[in-house]
Amino acid sequence: MPMSESFKQRLFPVVKQIAEHYGTPFHIYDEAGIRETGENLKKAFAGIEGFREYYAVKALPNKRILQIMKELGFGFDCSSIPELILSRELGGRGEDIMFTSNNTSIEEFRFAEADGGCILNLDDISLIPKVPEFPELICFRYNPGPRRTGNVIIGNPVEAKYGVTHEQVVEAYRQAKERGAKRFGLHTMVASNELDYTYMVETARMVLEIAELVEKELGIRFEFVNIGGGFGIPYKPEQQPLNIAAMAKEITAQFEAFKARHGYAPRMYMESGRFMTGPHGALVTTAINHKDTYRKYVGLDACMSSLMRPALYGSYHHIDVLGKENQPKSEVYDVVGSLCENNDKFAIQRELPPIEEGDLVILHDSGAHGHAMGFQYNGRLRPKELLLREDGSVELIRRAETVEDYFATYNFQPDAFTPAKG
Ligand SMILES: *Cc1c(COP(=O)(O)O)cnc(C)c1O
Repeated sequence: MPMSESFKQRLFPVVKQIAEHYGTPFHIYDEAGIRETGENLKKAFAGIEGFREYYAVKALPNKRILQIMKELGFGFDCSSIPELILSRELGGRGEDIMFTSNNTSIEEFRFAEADGGCILNLDDISLIPKVPEFPELICFRYNPGPRRTGNVIIGNPVEAKYGVTHEQVVEAYRQAKERGAKRFGLHTMVASNELDYTYMVETARMVLEIAELVEKELGIRFEFVNIGGGFGIPYKPEQQPLNIAAMAKEITAQFEAFKARHGYAPRMYMESGRFMTGPHGALVTTAINHKDTYRKYVGLDACMSSLMRPALYGSYHHIDVLGKENQPKSEVYDVVGSLCENNDKFAIQRELPPIEEGDLVILHDSGAHGHAMGFQYNGRLRPKELLLREDGSVELIRRAETVEDYFATYNFQPDAFTPAKG
């Protein structure tokens, strides 16, 4: 079950009018659905003291959406300077922001530490001496390596570039202590788009075990453990949603057991992106061409600059043709954009009802890693973003890119340079 029935019921009856007013293509996000998912997440984990979601800004870095996350009481998970700027513009300061970067530059550390700072989440032991002003509160990203089997998208932990190894983890906190750290957190991220809730339960068990191990070796206490993002959503109609209730129940029990053993438990953080917004977005396009060659093609007025996932990962995004949701799927199409790249296809050999030029073609689940992953290759620009508000009104929350944006990087001071002959 891709896009929720309730979003469909809010969007489909009015989407033609919205398309006429704003023009296609556009991503549209469902405020009611985002808020509901956020409230449900908080409710599910209410049994863990100090539970907090840090929304992974990269999934949908739109100010208006981040404002909703802030209203839900969530923090922000950032990994770049522009993401820090966005989070701070919305009032995020200090422990509202996790900075989970990797291959980090000194400039990024300086920026992260300025303006009220944030929680530094270090990706490697070699970065400890490079942090300009070592903070009191420090976190490390832990990579279990061969101790965990891989999840499909993020791959085998041994091959992942992230985090400190099992063998390094105690030493990392020891060195951090030597640099003056007094407060500690522990982070991991070992899954992406995982629909099996038991995988997340194992992740929580793993971070609590590592916290115990480090605590025993160094006599430090962990204020929080962060189980990362990677909570999956069902992109395909036959997939079942992640069982959040069962997951929360089992993870909560682990925190209670930790508390029984130690007399306290760390807080639990997570940093979901996809789970929070993925199903609450749709890319609305218009069919503009038909082509009948070795295969049947339908050409849309959007391309992979609006939604990269199918081309990048071969991902499935469900497609509805407005007004034809219940018609027999009697055609087989490749649904394509106009980029000069043969993998610029939203769907390959997809069974769909007959599509006519002018039909609104709606791609589901574009609310995370959709617009955000867009690019400008081939001079194909990113579309606008709209918010379907709770009261049923619609708001433009980002305009479409223009040719002026595309050419903006030609605005610079002339700078020619002749290197001395060596
Ligand atoms: C990408 C990312 C996330 C969010 O992942 P989702 O699959 O969107 O939940 C969270 N944390 C880190 C460190 C990430 O890189």
